[in-house]
Amino acid sequence: MRYIEPHGHMVSRVTDDYIDMVTAGCACVCEPAFWAGYDRSSVNGFYDYFCQLTDYEPKRAAKFGLPHFCWLCINPKESEDVKLAEEVVAIIPKFLDRPNVLGIGEIGLNKNSRNEMKVLEMHVDLAARQNQMILVHTPHLEDKLKGTRLIVDVIKRDQRIQPERVIIDHVEEHTIKLVLDAGFWAGMTLYPESKCSPARAIDMLENYGSERLWLNSACDWGVSIPLNVPYTALEMKRRGWSAEDVDKVVYQNPIKFLGQCKKFKLPKE
Ligand SMILES: [Zn+2]
Repeated sequence: MRYIEPHGHMVSRVTDDYIDMVTAGCACVCEPAFWAGYDRSSVNGFYDYFCQLTDYEPKRAAKFGLPHFCWLCINPKESEDVKLAEEVVAIIPKFLDRPNVLGIGEIGLNKNSRNEMKVLEMHVDLAARQNQMILVHTPHLEDKLKGTRLIVDVIKRDQRIQPERVIIDHVEEHTIKLVLDAGFWAGMTLYPESKCSPARAIDMLENYGSERLWLNSACDWGVSIPLNVPYTALEMKRRGWSAEDVDKVVYQNPIKFLGQCKKFKLPKE
């Protein structure tokens, strides 16, 4: 099996996870900027984090033969402080030329507040000005549908953004159609508890087809399973999917989306 982990928060994982992922056939990992489990106290905390994502973590992944890419932003959970967000957005361009940076993400909404909306718009404007791709986080549970609608409206309104260069992640049964109909890519996050189980993700693939969709484990510091993408691939095979159709979802689709960024390249097999 070969697969791509397109959304994994590797700075919170141990080296055993890297070994397991590579052993299971992982061809590369992509790490969106995220909340650290605590609010950073200043823009300098983000500067250091961006150095970690663009310098230290790719080197750590390379020790296990795994190419590492990342996305940069101030995440929605820390977007209440608009002044801090302005400072963070101002330092991001310094990092955009680094070889493993794919774009702006994971931006979006958490509680659908006014300040989060302002910060989302700032990031969409940054992506448009810098011609960057976008990766979007959508809110949890009862806030998801409303938040996804707000996000889709903000991005659609900006005529400079091409929807096929945007992925809206953490979709569920009630938001997937909204995202795909708007021309975006959609990500399904395989969590053991919330978000989406492997069985639910496969049901959605069988209902909506596998165009413009990817699977990820999001593996972070919370309860999560770094191998959930290959586990789901096994479950797809058990349900009668062909090896080629599984490969399209877990390997070819992420390459198709991520390959729109020229910096995204995999070593020759
Ligand atoms: Zn994430």
